[in-house]
Amino acid sequence: MKKKFNINNLTRENIKSLKPYSSARDDYKDATSKEMVFLDANENPFENGVNRYPDPHQHNVKKLLSKIKGINKENIFLGNGSDEVLDLIIRAFCEPNQDNLITLPPTYGMYAVLADINAIENRKVFLDNDFQPIVNQILDQADTNSKILFLCSPNNPTGNSMHTRSIEKLLLKFNGLVIVDEAYIDFSEEKSWLARLEEFPNLIVAQTLSKAYALAGIRIGACYASREIITILNTIKPPYNVNELSQQRAISKLQKMDEIKNEVAQLISERKRLKKELECCVSYIEKVYPSDGNFLLIKVDDATVRYNQLLEYGIVIRNRTTEPLCNNCLRISVGVCEENQRLIRALKSIQ
Ligand SMILES: *Cc1c(COP(=O)(O)O)cnc(C)c1O
Repeated sequence: MKKKFNINNLTRENIKSLKPYSSARDDYKDATSKEMVFLDANENPFENGVNRYPDPHQHNVKKLLSKIKGINKENIFLGNGSDEVLDLIIRAFCEPNQDNLITLPPTYGMYAVLADINAIENRKVFLDNDFQPIVNQILDQADTNSKILFLCSPNNPTGNSMHTRSIEKLLLKFNGLVIVDEAYIDFSEEKSWLARLEEFPNLIVAQTLSKAYALAGIRIGACYASREIITILNTIKPPYNVNELSQQRAISKLQKMDEIKNEVAQLISERKRLKKELECCVSYIEKVYPSDGNFLLIKVDDATVRYNQLLEYGIVIRNRTTEPLCNNCLRISVGVCEENQRLIRALKSIQ
């Protein structure tokens, strides 16, 4: 259990004193009531399904997520993709040109971009050769202005999960917020950190509907954290940050969890098949890294040559060779069976 944690000490002064925009729909929550006439938001009254502003608090999406994840609605925040969620966290807690955050390359590129956009120093502490965090080095890099530590587990682009013991230690010893980005958690056998939210007041778990839930196009990301943290994010978010169509599509998908589980199971089984096939039968693949995601990282003889050869076969993958520790590495998303077959055939014919 972490002691002496007070979110007020991390929050930017201007955010603490902020009075949020109050939207028309905040005043009367039950906008579906047939008896009411809504003349409060300067909406166009001709009904077409999207002429009204969307629910600013996404009650129905959160209700479903709450049931699926076993987390209270008050501990859930939704944004226009994880990108917006992470951006809002940085804006709430990091003072531009003063505070810093810590990232562990090779990792998700958006952390660095968001740090740059917000004029927050990004202290990079490379992962070790097994792509695990080096806890002591991370803690050494931290000072009183270190507000956020980004942990991506399973990590993109490396595919591995971080050791539970290392994350535990960082949660206990790092004095800022620890964001565990679980974009790929559904493809992993590791347990989600959601189960330990109450134990660590500085833990924020980020997830998304973009990967396992197959909804990248509607842009809904989520984070789960203490009620205090979620309240701050609700205060600073754009009022209608998740649009009506996205909320509707999310609701209909979240009502079909069996469909999601089925697709995830297929992708995991395809990932395992693809891994075996690449290990056994393609000579220039030096290594296929273990993966807890819906993608594989492979090391080849010459990543850029192989990347371009695949392009000629009409197959687009991701060249990660310029990332630290990823020399000659390629990242390949797991497709449906036929797509993976086409990939395997192409990889074999360019040996
Ligand atoms: C894909 C991905 C996300 C998802 O981002 P969205 O903006 O929600 O689509 C988040 N984190 C990581 C590490 C990812 O790879």
